[in-house]
Amino acid sequence: MNRKAFLKNSAILGAGLGLGGFFPFGEALGAARTRITILHTNDTHARIEPFSDSAPNYAGMGGVARRATLIRRLRAEYPDSLLLDAGDVFQGTPYFNKYNGALDFEVMSKMGYDAVTIGNHEFDNAVKGFEEVMHKARFPFVSTNYDFGTTRMGLRVHKFLIRQVGGIKIGIFGLGVAFENLVLPHLHRGVTYLDPVEVAADTTAHLKGYHQCDMVICLSHIGYRYNDNRVSDRVVAQQVDGIDLIIGGHTHTFMPEPELFEKPDGSRTWVSQVGFAGIVLGRLDFYFDRGKRIAAVRNHNYPVTGDNPDSVSLAHLPATTMDLVSG
Ligand SMILES: [Zn+2]
Repeated sequence: MNRKAFLKNSAILGAGLGLGGFFPFGEALGAARTRITILHTNDTHARIEPFSDSAPNYAGMGGVARRATLIRRLRAEYPDSLLLDAGDVFQGTPYFNKYNGALDFEVMSKMGYDAVTIGNHEFDNAVKGFEEVMHKARFPFVSTNYDFGTTRMGLRVHKFLIRQVGGIKIGIFGLGVAFENLVLPHLHRGVTYLDPVEVAADTTAHLKGYHQCDMVICLSHIGYRYNDNRVSDRVVAQQVDGIDLIIGGHTHTFMPEPELFEKPDGSRTWVSQVGFAGIVLGRLDFYFDRGKRIAAVRNHNYPVTGDNPDSVSLAHLPATTMDLVSG
């Protein structure tokens, strides 16, 4: 964790920021001029409805209607925001067997997702199965280390995206997991996996160099960490320079707060992931100084619970708040 100031759990500060103005909680924030809010999910796995009240785990949690309400309220309060998903929208409930992912894409379109990457389960009905429902997605897909060749799927998946949010230029790219032992060859026919570390390094350099992005976000479905030598978000964070944020997926890792990787040159990469099934909505606020450099990061994840999100104050929803004040 950051060797510098590390302030934690300040409900008062949370409430202050919620009012829209800057509430200086450190020198870094005092100098901050712009706040960008990143909302994120991963591995939603066809969880249209909440878990049942009698479920052994996560009873009564999740559900797209509540998530949509929460997102709508957060975006009203924090308009300079992006809503991102790190893949594996497909598979997990009978809704997928019936609608083949079309329903998920429709509700995610209504929620206003800005970018979604491709998980291994997006190939469960083969490339053709994705192509049959992709028109339901009114948001862009982004994946950089899958070469889609001449497939129609490739026509809908961007190599990277660039968005201007609150005057900050943000580059977004995506990483997919190796197909070996996860996706049968006939299901991904026409799509080739490329080395994520190489692709991430090239793409980040391109986004920060040629395109002059102020911030680079990687939407990753390669997994948070492994005990063997498989590439993971931690490996990418350690080996690739210039990625500011990795929103992860695939390993269904509930991270109460992001992990921060600092390089000897002082550059930083934050890694976050919010479990699976839409049980938690992730939120990270990035504060930029006048020079459009990241001055501070704040984390505030929201469990998607049965409490009516219309009737509770966002500042008082049960959540983990962490202030990472970087110097
Ligand atoms: Zn996966």
